[in-house]
Amino acid sequence: MTAPVFDLTYANLPQALYTPYQPEPTPAAKMMLQNNALATKLGIDGTWLSSNDALKFFSGQASPNDYTPIAMAYAGHQFGGFSPRLGDGRAVLMGEYVDGNNTRHDIHLKGSGRTTYSRGGDGKAALRAVLKEYIFSENLAALGIPTTRALAALTTDETVMRQKPHPGAILVRTARSHIRVGTFQYARLCQDETALKALADYNIDRLFPEIDAPNPYAELLSQTIEKQAKLIAKWMSFGFIHGVMNTDNMAISGETIDFGPCAFMEKFSPDRVFSSIDHHGRYAWSKQPEMAYWNLTRFAESLLPLLHTDEDKAVEIAQGQLAKFSEIFTENFNALMLAKIGLSPEMDGAQQTLSAAMSMLAAQTIDFTLFFRRLTDIADGKSEQVFLALFPEQADVKKWLKSWQTQLEPHAKAARTKMQTLNPLYIPRFQQLEAALEAAEQGDMAPVKDLLKAVTTPFDEKNEYADQAIPLLEKAAPMQTFCET
Ligand code: AMP
Ligand code: MG
Repeated sequence: MTAPVFDLTYANLPQALYTPYQPEPTPAAKMMLQNNALATKLGIDGTWLSSNDALKFFSGQASPNDYTPIAMAYAGHQFGGFSPRLGDGRAVLMGEYVDGNNTRHDIHLKGSGRTTYSRGGDGKAALRAVLKEYIFSENLAALGIPTTRALAALTTDETVMRQKPHPGAILVRTARSHIRVGTFQYARLCQDETALKALADYNIDRLFPEIDAPNPYAELLSQTIEKQAKLIAKWMSFGFIHGVMNTDNMAISGETIDFGPCAFMEKFSPDRVFSSIDHHGRYAWSKQPEMAYWNLTRFAESLLPLLHTDEDKAVEIAQGQLAKFSEIFTENFNALMLAKIGLSPEMDGAQQTLSAAMSMLAAQTIDFTLFFRRLTDIADGKSEQVFLALFPEQADVKKWLKSWQTQLEPHAKAARTKMQTLNPLYIPRFQQLEAALEAAEQGDMAPVKDLLKAVTTPFDEKNEYADQAIPLLEKAAPMQTFCET
């Protein structure tokens, strides 16, 4: 067995940005899920991951030999209101791991106990929230969406109080970095610019080492904007709704992070919101680009002192960079949505075909995932019946299908291959997820494991996963998601 080597370069940054913190020991912790595929990808020995040493490390019962883990400090705009001091209130950065490609990954625990940033919280995580994050992060990764990953999940044998008592758990999460827009907002509030500059330099070194521009900070802003614009385009093309896009939940690495109340839209409705705390639809599916832009503007504001010594010039640089967001997002989103129906921007009439499809989906609130998937099946030579059956009213869709087929015809083969990589069959659906989480709370992990298998191979149709593709029942109560961590 080879134990991975961890270190902690983040602790070389100014002390204002974190607090050394060894998590509370949880002696009753047991391994609940371990992600061997991710371990292999990172080059972490699977035998170590299943070992008692790993369990002790992830449950606060063993501390690293040559450093103390840390809780990171950050600020954040939560639903538009600014909190100057948030930080890891129920999480800890246990260390960093460098993989075979020389890429550094944070090893982070969520639900590991109270820290100096906990405010009124208990520092714990509920099992259902940990499993939900595990399932969604592994599904997002399988869909090709940049995201934090779940390396393992532990039960704690503790009870966590939320709306009602829940079993507790700890998530072992990896990320290219946990630095958030909110981390920069926090650094910007520090007395002098030392912390801000050190944080920006650290980000460039770690996430954008290729930056070699006369103004590296403008380039950091530029690359962050580009990554976020592409990320949001990807989310939306799969019907993903993050649910809590506060500035503390937006990672500079461009990974999806902290998606507590997230959901995939089932019935298509662009203004759809699922989060119980999103009262004004701030983070609805269609609002996500606008909100990402808003967050990036906060990021740019935090960087101002580094962009130029003259504030007016700094603002000009920031605005110049921010102006690119909309174009990058629109171009990427449009290309993805067209590719989902086998078309591309330069084809005559492609745009109209896409718009007509989206109008039909909205008018009849059709299942977003199944629409594209069953269309892919038609491109794949399967019968039209399953696709048409998605529509209560079929007159319009039959006409649409005919004209789409004519457009697709000349390049059907290439289109089909692309469609198969963009149109999954399995996403974590409300009812299936809810049932699986409920069973897990009662001690039966089998439904979670089945769901995980389906959503981590989301493009491969298999009879055994048939239940995972059944859309929300017509008469089901409106679904809501909760943070619950
Ligand atoms: P989030 O829900 O991820 O946006 O978290 C917002 C802030 O609340 C972060 O600073 C978290 O660390 C903190 N927080 C959330 N839940 C808890 C908890 N149970 N105990 C302590 N802090 C928490
Ligand atoms: Mg958060």
